Amino acid sequence: MPSLSDYGPIVGTQTLEELRLLAGQLQGKMIQHVNSTAVGGGVAEILHRLIPLFKEIGVESCWEVIKGGERFFWATKKFHNALHGSPEEITPEVFDVYLQGAGEYLKEMPLKGDILFIHDPQPIVLVEKKKETGRKWIWRCHIDVSNPHPEVWNFLRRYIDQYDASVFSSPAFSQPLPIRQFMVAPSIDPLSEKNREIPEETITEVLRKYEIPRDLPIVTQISRFDRLKDPVGVIKAFRMVQKTSRCRLVLGGGTATDDPESNQVLEEVRQEADKDPLIHVLLIPSGSDLEINALQRASAVVLQKSLKEGFGLTVTEALWKAKPVVASAAGGIPLQVAHKYSGLLCHSIEGAAYALKQLLHNPGYAKRLGENGREHVRQNFLLTRHLREYLLLFLSLEHTEDLIRL
Ligand code: UDP
Repeated sequence: MPSLSDYGPIVGTQTLEELRLLAGQLQGKMIQHVNSTAVGGGVAEILHRLIPLFKEIGVESCWEVIKGGERFFWATKKFHNALHGSPEEITPEVFDVYLQGAGEYLKEMPLKGDILFIHDPQPIVLVEKKKETGRKWIWRCHIDVSNPHPEVWNFLRRYIDQYDASVFSSPAFSQPLPIRQFMVAPSIDPLSEKNREIPEETITEVLRKYEIPRDLPIVTQISRFDRLKDPVGVIKAFRMVQKTSRCRLVLGGGTATDDPESNQVLEEVRQEADKDPLIHVLLIPSGSDLEINALQRASAVVLQKSLKEGFGLTVTEALWKAKPVVASAAGGIPLQVAHKYSGLLCHSIEGAAYALKQLLHNPGYAKRLGENGREHVRQNFLLTRHLREYLLLFLSLEHTEDLIRL
């Protein structure tokens, strides 16, 4: 595991000094994160990296995952889609199943933190314990809730309003709330297995393992098999590109324990691919960070054709590897991809195909976009910036009374 000083050459030693200084003000405080899955998806990805660094700078931190059965995650997945603004039928049964699951985790979850940092809607009900336990409570929303299903949003508001503060990834993702709101963009760890520099032989080995020849340029989308990531749309765009620019498509992803739909989506993708030898549909087990790193680095272009998106960490990862990216203008992607500067944005299958062709035909242009993207990530979306903003958030919560007195 890298230590804080290893980040010096990437972000500068002054940044690290500042982190140590801020952390010094939080000595003796315990931060407890709670979410709904230990693997799969962006939230787990970030927590795996942030928590060891918090510990290293002396801010005690722990991470608990709520337990839930298939029915509970069926209900929370419906909430997730509905909050993103996707059409979703939300019957009274969905709320009942959700509350039943919440009742279970309310009984079981140990609350150890001085600050309780609750991620996304699944564990949101934990704040009911605030009256009993006191402490400071933060609700961290990783979803773009700018256009939520009104009934689901109103239901969640009962809980959100009890928190001391909320955190959104971008001002454009949030809603008016009676509690304090903080804007903190997510981040990637440049030294993790998924993002660190790797030798060319490792890339070759991984491609060999997945039986992907390097005879043609490779276009890749790495994502959980989720309809909102539009893997079937990716195949359709790829087929349009094939008419003029031969390439291979890699669609790689796994499943998350809190997503019951992924197996079905994987099946739909396999049917759409129809055993095309140029399409490689890979079921990647969790923890395959080095493999994902290698697949991203082997790509001529990285695609992220999401219909809805939270922040889109896969885009950050690709940009950090200086890859030219074609991505939908959804969720946090436009914060990362400035069209024609650090990648190309698209709004449809046809748009994705057009952008892909442009990049495959103009390697010099593609290279420039990738380099701009890497610099943009260095400035804005690395772990150290994230750590700093969370430390400032904790400090501001701990000192709310002082601020009010001022
Ligand atoms: N990821 C992974 N394995 C997979 C698919 C995705 O490790 O099979 C990682 C991916 O590299 C990224 C994160 O999970 O770090 C996905 O985050 P993103 O914000 O792109 O989407 P989310 O899954 O949270 O909607």
